[in-house]
Amino acid sequence: METPGNLFCVAAPSGAGKSSLVKALLELDSRLAVSVSHTTRAPRGQELDGREYHFVDEASFRAMVDGGEFFEYAQVHGNFYGTSRRAIQQRLDGGEDVVLEIDWQGALQIKKLFAHAVLIFILPPSWEELMQRLNRRGEDSAEVIAQRMGNARTEVAQARHFDYVIVNALFETALFDLKTVVHSQRLKYAAQRRAKSQVFASLGLG
Ligand code: 5GP
Repeated sequence: METPGNLFCVAAPSGAGKSSLVKALLELDSRLAVSVSHTTRAPRGQELDGREYHFVDEASFRAMVDGGEFFEYAQVHGNFYGTSRRAIQQRLDGGEDVVLEIDWQGALQIKKLFAHAVLIFILPPSWEELMQRLNRRGEDSAEVIAQRMGNARTEVAQARHFDYVIVNALFETALFDLKTVVHSQRLKYAAQRRAKSQVFASLGLG
């Protein structure tokens, strides 16, 4: 599927700093919109329905799957997560750039549908640092942290399928790297041709 807008998928094991990086990127870049996913997991802390996620029960999620309402969906840490067509199609068609903060399974599904999607994987600098970050976050029980560390091994192994890899050792450096990827994608010939079709047409560029 070709769209005028660019599509970025950011994946990482939990604790690598993906959410903070994407949040900072969105604050700096008004041309970028984030897609709000649907999930069957319960809201955490200050999360609001319709802001961080659309929180739905499993029956509603399955009904959406059966109705073909998702571009992609996956089971992550025991819950379902999905990107609805409604969440991104209109924006991409309108030429907006969209970022999806999703897991690696979803990112690979998106790449099959949108060949121009840019897949970015955020790595922690080490297993030790990842463990420390998960503990420091103080959001999850020891059992959940152990499960997340186990899943992280599988997730990190998928980085090889991504277009770009950013090691989040220092937040500011990783944010700079992320901005650079977004910016350079916008300058690619195909992306410029999609975004600036009139200029290209007037210059006789196909
Ligand atoms: P959390 O429960 O910590 O918010 O998210 C758990 C994982 O699910 C994260 O890796 C997050 O990026 C991923 N995730 C969030 N939304 C989606 C989605 O729409 N699709 C997929 N495949 N993964 C998602």
